This record gives sequence, C-alpha cells and structure tokens, in this order.
Amino acid sequence: MKQRIDKLETNGFLPREELRCLLCDISAADTEYLFARARAVRERVYGKAVWLRGLIEISSYCKNNCLYCGIRAGNAKAERYRLTPEEIHFCAKNGYALGFRTFVLQGGEDPWFTDERLCAIVADLRKDYPDCAITLSMGERSRRSYQALFNAGADRYLLRHETANAAHYASLHPEEMRLSSRLKCLQHLKDIGYQVGCGFMVGSPGQDTDCLLDDLEFIHSFLPAMVGIGPFLPHKDTPFAKEAPGTLEMTLRLLAVLRLMQPNALLPATTALGTVHPLGREKGLLAGANIVMPNLSPVTVRRKYMLYDNKICTGEEAAECRYCLQRRIESVGYSIEVNRGDFIPPAEKG
Ligand code: SAH
Repeated sequence: MKQRIDKLETNGFLPREELRCLLCDISAADTEYLFARARAVRERVYGKAVWLRGLIEISSYCKNNCLYCGIRAGNAKAERYRLTPEEIHFCAKNGYALGFRTFVLQGGEDPWFTDERLCAIVADLRKDYPDCAITLSMGERSRRSYQALFNAGADRYLLRHETANAAHYASLHPEEMRLSSRLKCLQHLKDIGYQVGCGFMVGSPGQDTDCLLDDLEFIHSFLPAMVGIGPFLPHKDTPFAKEAPGTLEMTLRLLAVLRLMQPNALLPATTALGTVHPLGREKGLLAGANIVMPNLSPVTVRRKYMLYDNKICTGEEAAECRYCLQRRIESVGYSIEVNRGDFIPPAEKG
C-alpha cells in the first residue's frame, strides 16, 4: 500500500481500482503513512500556514429543497433570517480587526439577493477592504449574475458539486435540480476567472465507493482551487433525519488523498468535521487541510443557520471562535497567516 501512496503522490492520480483500495482496504499503519505524506506535500507548498476564512451566513431563506439540508424550503420549522447590508458590513469590520483577510458570504438561494443588491454589498466590501478576498457561496445563479458579481469585486466562489454521480445527485435533490446545471455553473465560474471551490459531503445517504471515485475523478479533471468536504450529518426536520452520519475516518482519508492529488489545493477542515468529532478540525489539518472557516455571523442568528443537527460554534462570539481556533491550530504545530491566502496555481510541468 505504501508504494501505491507514493505513486499517487508522484503521479497526482491513480487508476480507479487502486484508488478504491486506498479508500476501502487501508490499514491503520498505512493510513498514518498516507496522512504523513499529505502533510509533507502540504508543507512543501504552503508551509505550516493555516488561513482563516471568515464565514458570514447572510440568509437562511432558501428556495431549494435539498433533502439533506436543514434550511430547505420545505422545512417549515426552520427559523428564517436575512442580514441587512449594514449587518454584513459590520461582521466584516469585526472580522478585519480579528485578522481575517477573506470574507465568505454564504446563504440559501434567497431571491431577495438580486444581482443589484448583492453587487452593491460586494462593491461596498471591495471598496472598504481592498486587501481582502471576497468569496461568495450563494448557490446556482446565471452566468450573467456571476459575471456581474465578479465585476463588482468578488474573487472566489464556493459551489459544492455535492456528488459527481448523476443518479446519486438525483436521490439527494428534488426533481428540478440537476447535476448538469450544477456543473455548468462551476464551469461558468471558472471561465469568468473566479478561484472556484467545489466539494461534496462524505457519507451522504446512498453514497457508495463508486460515487466517491466519481467525485475524485471529477475533481481531477476540473482542477478547482478549493475543495470543501465534510461528513454528511442528519438534520431532524429533513427526510434524512434517520440516516447515519458520515465518518471522521473516511473524511480524513479523502482529505489526504485530495492533498496528494492536488498539492496546491486549498482544503478546509470544515465545521462539519469539527461537529462529528471534538478534534475533527485538528485531525483534518494533520491529514492535509490548510484552511479553517470560523463563523463571523452575529450570534443572534447562528442557531438559525442549522444545516445539520448539533452544529458547533453557534453560541460563541466571533472573537471567541477566532481565538479558540488559533489554539487548536497551534496545538498541532501550525500557525495562522494574516493575508488573503490565495490559491497558488501549480507550476506548469515540462
Ligand atoms: N446555497 C449554497 C450554500 C449551501 S450550504 C449552495 O448551494 O452552495 C453549504 C454546504 O453545506 C452545502 O453545499 C452542503 O454540502 C453542506 N450541507 C448542507 N446540509 C448538510 C448536512 N446535513 N450535513 C453536512 N453538510 C451539509
């Protein structure tokens, strides 16, 4: 198995059946080796730096009805809120003082955020924080809309593909949502010039190893700047309430494989990883992740952005989250870097 791991590191990819072995038949000792190689590769490209991305959850309204998500339109029990442009600006101001140089505006697909309104918010942040990256994670929009937001000053866009297997995608989403639309959005974002993040949930209902292999193959061909992965976690008021959560182990293994496949990728140790295990994010960093995304949303709305049950960090102020994460990062020998932390494209080979 060690040879196979070395081959993955050297070639950046493995034939499907070899990848399958890595995901399914790996011993504890080989897993340690996999993580050690992932750390070595991450340190070669990004050193011991970890970047903070300040997450501002701007709306819990959503027109979509994804079966896994706690803020799906069909969840009548979900409490809805929407931050005002002033509140969003205040979160960023607070974050800037705490050393954040990336703001991630995330929300449900809320029709209130028209291009006009969202562009005004982005342009305002761009003007006041010229040294910061602005990331959007607001779901599927038209190419025109993505272009307008880019022109207004957005640099990056996170849109997880959720699963690269069309049948699996259909089982996680309502009829009107299509994998092909999702992939088209990702391509538009890339063509426009965004640093694009895709990603998927680990252990979502119906996901088998072939789905994960499809995800890895998609990522290998799409070459995203960022890949967000975290365990699926059930939410009590969704159709998947009784489904089993994804595991820490599989998520870590996938993070390490992704690091070897794409040495330069920005890989977050996600909140979901910190929810599935108290030291999940630390373990994620030790398996190749180099990003954490502390919450900058006002504490008054945190409980309302419940994508899954038991989400962590819903009670703390931004500053508490920031310093808690700093301790966690330093506990595993890494340190926070205060700058935008842009994707470094791999040097052209040959
Ligand atoms: N509306 C935006 C943001 C969605 S929330 C968009 O469509 O991109 C961000 C991510 O949270 C989703 O892409 C999904 O992968 C993840 N998520 C949603 N529900 C989840 C759950 N129950 N468990 C784990 N992750 C979940």
